[in-house]
Amino acid sequence: MTVSRILAIKGRDVITTQPHRTLAEVAQLLSDKGIGALVVTGAAGEVMGIVSERDVVRAVARQGAVALEDAVSRHMTARVVTAQETATINGLMQQMTAGRFRHVPVVEDGRLVGLISIGDVVKHRLEEYEHEQQALKDYIATA
Ligand code: AMP
Repeated sequence: MTVSRILAIKGRDVITTQPHRTLAEVAQLLSDKGIGALVVTGAAGEVMGIVSERDVVRAVARQGAVALEDAVSRHMTARVVTAQETATINGLMQQMTAGRFRHVPVVEDGRLVGLISIGDVVKHRLEEYEHEQQALKDYIATA
């Protein structure tokens, strides 16, 4: 199973924010959309970073509620690990596990074309396991 297959099923919309927005705006958007991270994009739509609920929690824990007035650029992760559409789900799982993050933006030719979360990965891996199990059961039944 590849990233492009998951995007074909879940869609390619990515909720983004910009570096000058505040953490309060990020928290509001994460809550409104029921998601865990926003990709931070520049004027040309290029990926500049990623800001997740963990970044908001860390900032508030360290600085208190005043951190919510800070710009996104102060708390985002600028070195973003991205994937291409040809990447496999297993490869993504390994990247997420090794890097301890749960979101991977998908980029093609410098353009943001989707986002895969740990929830998408787990969902599709479970479906794969179910198909494999069924195939084995069918094989045993007919052998
Ligand atoms: P998450 O588990 O995705 O909520 O993120 C945990 C931490 O990793 C936060 O500091 C994020 O900014 C950062 N992070 C999330 N996704 C990525 C990614 N694809 N590449 C690099 N850092 C990330």
